[in-house]
Amino acid sequence: MEHVQTPDAEPAGAAPWPALGDHLALDFLNTIATARGGRVEWLSSGEAFLAWLKTAGVIDKPPRFERAGLDAAARDAIELREWFRGALGRIKAKGRDAMTASDLKRLNALLARGASFQRVEPTAGGLKTVSVRPMDDAQALLAPLAAAIADLLCHGDLDLVRRCEGEQCTLWFYDRTKSHRRRWCSQALCGNRAKAAAFRYRHRDAH
Ligand SMILES: [Zn+2]
Repeated sequence: MEHVQTPDAEPAGAAPWPALGDHLALDFLNTIATARGGRVEWLSSGEAFLAWLKTAGVIDKPPRFERAGLDAAARDAIELREWFRGALGRIKAKGRDAMTASDLKRLNALLARGASFQRVEPTAGGLKTVSVRPMDDAQALLAPLAAAIADLLCHGDLDLVRRCEGEQCTLWFYDRTKSHRRRWCSQALCGNRAKAAAFRYRHRDAH
């Protein structure tokens, strides 16, 4: 059995979460990141997990669950996230068949909890269908994340799934640019820093 590492990190507090992944599965990976000089964890408690799910657009109204169940779901989410980080690294290096039978079992068990149904609702000029996921317990919060991971692994172009080239950066993104030459989580966070470092390097003997 593969050991899943849970990195030590500070709770996010007021740190804004970097919504830069351009795919929910990668946004999920990016719920732990280096910010303000340290590791920041956005899923440090059940409450923090709910807040992130809302920010990331996974849920609309936070459902009411008892605290212990919610905290347990947050811990399971961290475990899922770190398993996915390992699996994604293997798949990037070796291809999709690097997913083992136990990987698939794990993912499929979570997907099985993700039953949803359609509802018809009125809009300003007509009708629309809305997908509804019944959330019977806090564990159901993991299902949409498992669905996003499944979508990325089965339908995503893995060449466009990349890690930011920033030296200390751990953020992942899905490169949706036309040229497919995105290198940074964001220009402001890592692109400019790299540019400044390259500038200093070029001019190191200039004075
Ligand atoms: Zn970065």
